[in-house]
Amino acid sequence: MTDLVLSGVTKRFGATLAVEAVDLAIPDGTLVCLLGPSGCGKTTLMRMIAGLESPSSGEIRFGAEDITRVPVHRRGFGMVFQSLALFPHLSVGDNIAYPLRLRGEGRAAVEGRVRELLDLVRLPGVEGRAITQLSGGQRQRVAIARALAVAPRLFLLDEPLSALDAKLREAMQVELKLLQQRLGITTIVVTHDQREAMTMADRVVVMQSGRVLQMDRPIDVYRRPATPFVADFLGQTNLLAARREGGGARLAGGFLSDLALPAPQALLSIRPEDLSILPDGEGPIAADVEFVRDMGSAVEVFLQAEGTRIVVHREAGAAVPPVGARVSLAPRPGAATIFPAEAA
Ligand code: ATP
Repeated sequence: MTDLVLSGVTKRFGATLAVEAVDLAIPDGTLVCLLGPSGCGKTTLMRMIAGLESPSSGEIRFGAEDITRVPVHRRGFGMVFQSLALFPHLSVGDNIAYPLRLRGEGRAAVEGRVRELLDLVRLPGVEGRAITQLSGGQRQRVAIARALAVAPRLFLLDEPLSALDAKLREAMQVELKLLQQRLGITTIVVTHDQREAMTMADRVVVMQSGRVLQMDRPIDVYRRPATPFVADFLGQTNLLAARREGGGARLAGGFLSDLALPAPQALLSIRPEDLSILPDGEGPIAADVEFVRDMGSAVEVFLQAEGTRIVVHREAGAAVPPVGARVSLAPRPGAATIFPAEAA
């Protein structure tokens, strides 16, 4: 098994701590998304894995090998960056053939491999075209084919789809995931798009301020977020301040009698789909309907409870009370994730 293992990896740029003491184990054959807001250190972490940047401290191992100081061209990794870095004056075929020719492979072998790679990324027969004759999505595929040409040991993609429009990006996410599964190649994708991470990742790594907050399956990050930041970053949620009162929890708009808090103050995360809307007086939280957004596939209801905004999602076509109506909200039992108040 060639797992990628990072231990205590730190990177400083002068006074900036871009990546701080990151420990990560990425299992062989998985696709991992590094997810987090702008400036959290995703790209720096990726560049250290690639060998484009060396850690200030810590160690990176690939299988049995310590690669911390191995130069980029000796790592045997494939990379695709947002800029794609295709050669605009070369044809599609010559772009893909470039790394193969660098290795001194013969003409027939190179041509066969280029054909195979273009089939793999579903662009058969475009070898002779100029890069400038391709759409953004097609260029993306050529960049992926070129990165896969030399059968890399690890595949690294930094915001590979961010230049594409929303529809094409979603289609490419699925294609990229299927391609990765077919090849079984360990892949790391940097993204700030949580939907992209949910679509592609076997494991999501959520970062904030240079640190890893959580690494888990996407659905486990969604259901059991490690911190309020994670809860809010992956999907939508309601973060509600709560105070212990007897065996229950007091919060804006009401009292949850069966929610025992481990501390006097806490922060609750309740997902919008885990709240139901009942007639006034029939549930524990009183709220007023402020705004309704009907997305067609679902209805999003925005409410106010004593100055706190609460969002509730209902299924398509659900009957929703009108704006201005006073209603009751009830969380599904067990749906609240409880954080200590200081975690906010
Ligand atoms: P984005 O999504 O905006 O690309 P990111 O999560 O990839 O952000 P990084 O690019 O890794 O974040 O940057 C992390 C921090 O390190 C930032 O504060 C950034 O300004 C700083 N940084 C990154 N590269 C350098 C550099 N070469 N010199 C100095 N500071 C840097």
